[in-house]
Amino acid sequence: MNDQEAINAGDNPAIDKALSLENLASWTEEQFQQRFGQPPTWVAAAPGRVNLIGEHTDYNDGFVLPMAIDRYVVMAAAPSTESDSDRPVRVCSHGVDQTERLSPDIKDPAEVVPWARYVLGVMVGCHRRGMTYDPLDILVESTVPLGGGLSSSAALEVATATLLEAVTGKTMDSVEKALLCQKAEHEYAGMPCGIMDQFTSVMGLRDHLMLLDCRSRDVKLVRMDDADITVLIINTNVKHELTGGEYAERRSQCEAAAEKMGVASLRDATFDLLGETKEALEPVFQRRARHVIGEIERTTETVASIEAGDWARVGELMYASHDSLRDDYEVSCVELDLLVELAKKQGESGAVIGSRMTGGGFGGCTVSLVPSGDVESVARSIRAEYQRRTGIEPSIFTTRPAQGAHIVRG
Ligand code: ADP
Ligand code: MG
Repeated sequence: MNDQEAINAGDNPAIDKALSLENLASWTEEQFQQRFGQPPTWVAAAPGRVNLIGEHTDYNDGFVLPMAIDRYVVMAAAPSTESDSDRPVRVCSHGVDQTERLSPDIKDPAEVVPWARYVLGVMVGCHRRGMTYDPLDILVESTVPLGGGLSSSAALEVATATLLEAVTGKTMDSVEKALLCQKAEHEYAGMPCGIMDQFTSVMGLRDHLMLLDCRSRDVKLVRMDDADITVLIINTNVKHELTGGEYAERRSQCEAAAEKMGVASLRDATFDLLGETKEALEPVFQRRARHVIGEIERTTETVASIEAGDWARVGELMYASHDSLRDDYEVSCVELDLLVELAKKQGESGAVIGSRMTGGGFGGCTVSLVPSGDVESVARSIRAEYQRRTGIEPSIFTTRPAQGAHIVRG
């Protein structure tokens, strides 16, 4: 077992445990000392996120309802003990067991290994804002699973930005910071993502969901601190997105559908308009539009239902979201469908409130709401049945809405 596996390993057979942020930060400081022979001067943390509902709506100017999770990327840094004039920053990710040398002067992201492009993109953005510093050594540790749809990429970007704020003593406005990180993902990692992931990692607040209007960028905090309800995240531990082009394809299909419907984005479309313009839309565009229009409605209705304490309705909306992502948006997969089906079965006796795939799709995780007293037995049963049917061991953990990015030391 390597150190990263040790971090993720648990002693509980039903639910995986990860280091608390406090322990992860201490662990990162120890590892920094071992790797670079001195203690770190600065430590920063940024969380992953889970989206309760509102999937594939962010790049359609719609609503999303994510929360930060208590899984973090933690980055530690100190002035470098050795300097390389061309590339003054040494960054080591313990999880991928690799060190890369970076400089804000690197023009082409292809000059560095793929994972370091997220860090580089943020460094370049900060440099452009006049955030400069002497040569640095950086160590990255993480409890956010990579590529699992919980936005380890945004956590890495936002942790980098937060670390550089600590190093330079210059802080950014939170919207500016989230947008800088999104730009890094677009331009340096080649991923045309929406704003949800970076906004959530920057602005997440303990015990709150965030209703984010991706058009106006307004954030409404929605309290979710009911101790009787637990957020359960189950990772299929599969990823079928082979080409990586599916996301960009969905995005351009939505743009094309909006154009054919004569609206600026699918945020402005309605079911009535879809009915009227149906003839002009190929079936695939109709399906994509139907998902987005319905999902935006479901997201705002979810907030109203949570505020009214109507958890049964929240559950129905989550299942409806999953069906739509599976049938109309076509981004689910057999493993995600199986997890939701198993959760729904548990729900017949009241042990699950609602469940759906979360994140981009084609693998990754489901998010479920579970009465806290049932979490253990639900997790145990789904783990066993998923493993029996697929031969794959899922990862399962619980979380509560967590605190967004912050400086831990420095
Ligand atoms: P997700 O954001 O859902 O986890 P992505 O494919 O968007 O999935 O981002 C995952 C990528 O982010 C990884 O393949 C890696 O390049 C980078 N990454 C995230 N966390 C780390 C880390 N701790 N160390 C190195 N690279 C990381
Ligand atoms: Mg990502």
